[in-house]
Amino acid sequence: MSRRGREKRYARRGKDVSETWMPKTSLGRMIQEGRITSMEEIFVEGLRIREPEIVDLLLPDLQEEVIFVTLVQKQTDAGEKSQFKAIVAVGNRDGYIGLGGGKARQVRNAIEKAAANARLNISYVRRGCGSWECRCGKSHSMLFQTAGKCGGVEIILVPGPRGLGLVASETAKVMLGLAGIKDCWTRSFGATRTIPSFSYAIFDALKKTYSLVTPQDWVR
Ligand SMILES: [Zn+2]
Repeated sequence: MSRRGREKRYARRGKDVSETWMPKTSLGRMIQEGRITSMEEIFVEGLRIREPEIVDLLLPDLQEEVIFVTLVQKQTDAGEKSQFKAIVAVGNRDGYIGLGGGKARQVRNAIEKAAANARLNISYVRRGCGSWECRCGKSHSMLFQTAGKCGGVEIILVPGPRGLGLVASETAKVMLGLAGIKDCWTRSFGATRTIPSFSYAIFDALKKTYSLVTPQDWVR
């Protein structure tokens, strides 16, 4: 599917959600009633998102990218059982990214499940200019170097100066782009060709931009 096609599909989906959605959780109802109007409020309060529609409503520019799809075959008593496994990343290219997986007998359903799961895992990415060569103070990179791990893969994200671009593999470029990071270097170690572990390692590194407390925060 082309990127254009995907964007169109999600623009449409976002509209459908506000018209027909029946929230099942109290957070969902608060959003529908307009008592919570931004993603920031959810993160500041430390609330948990249990309905993917919440993310579509609060981040109308959300885009998604299929990171990985594979066919898994399992031998059971009843014969061979095959399922598709998908990993999907979502992001608004402005500080929010989610990654999730899904399994189903049909590719389309596996991708749909993964996309919903990615929304539930949405995370805030703290950006800034942590490059000593740049120091522009804008949010084109990260504030500091972060590392992430998953399985046998480790990845390090290093802030870069404006105009550098993403010095990264294809999967990392897609995810960093969805998060809204424009300039950074990446270093990876271990089984980096294992896309599922690799993508979760990047997600881990991006989440740490938010969870790490910087000396600036102690002053505040
Ligand atoms: Zn800069």
